[in-house]
Amino acid sequence: MIELSFSWDWTSTPKWRLTFELQQLENLVSEVKPSGKASDEWVWKPCNSGRFSSKSMIVMLEELQSPNIIHLEPTLRNNLIPQKIGILIWRACQNKLPVRTELDRRGIYLHSTRCPVCDDDIETLNHTLIRCNTASDIWDRVFKWWNLDMINFMDINDLAKCSNSNLQTSTGSTIWQAIAWVTTYFI
Ligand SMILES: [Zn+2]
Repeated sequence: MIELSFSWDWTSTPKWRLTFELQQLENLVSEVKPSGKASDEWVWKPCNSGRFSSKSMIVMLEELQSPNIIHLEPTLRNNLIPQKIGILIWRACQNKLPVRTELDRRGIYLHSTRCPVCDDDIETLNHTLIRCNTASDIWDRVFKWWNLDMINFMDINDLAKCSNSNLQTSTGSTIWQAIAWVTTYFI
């Protein structure tokens, strides 16, 4: 019988939650007793045969998306611009962009959570995309170009909606949304 033991060679020492997760993983793996005779193989658990199939993946995803298990927000779309830009805005609304506060919240060790551009505040999504000096200079110019008041636009959810009472027509609103989203993408 082979006993498993671990000797890690870290380039960056795990801290906080990662230490706990590592311990959990080691405990889990320590229960496995390899015989040394059988060869290793990959097994796809959702299928009885152990072999991967697209159908089993679809069934698994549909089960995950059922309202009792997980709720996924619909993606955002503006037909005037490439879909990848809508996806970026959608990810920002879900707090899924890798700014420093989000990385820190997920247990990734960083030397600082302050904004690397201005160092005036911590790097949140709202800071990076809207309030940071560089971003707010760009927004200032975009709002002036459209004769709009910056006050309409205070956080990432406002940015995603981009509703503005000064824009009378829905076409105007759609164009404004496209411009705001593209600006966000480039920031
Ligand atoms: Zn900044």
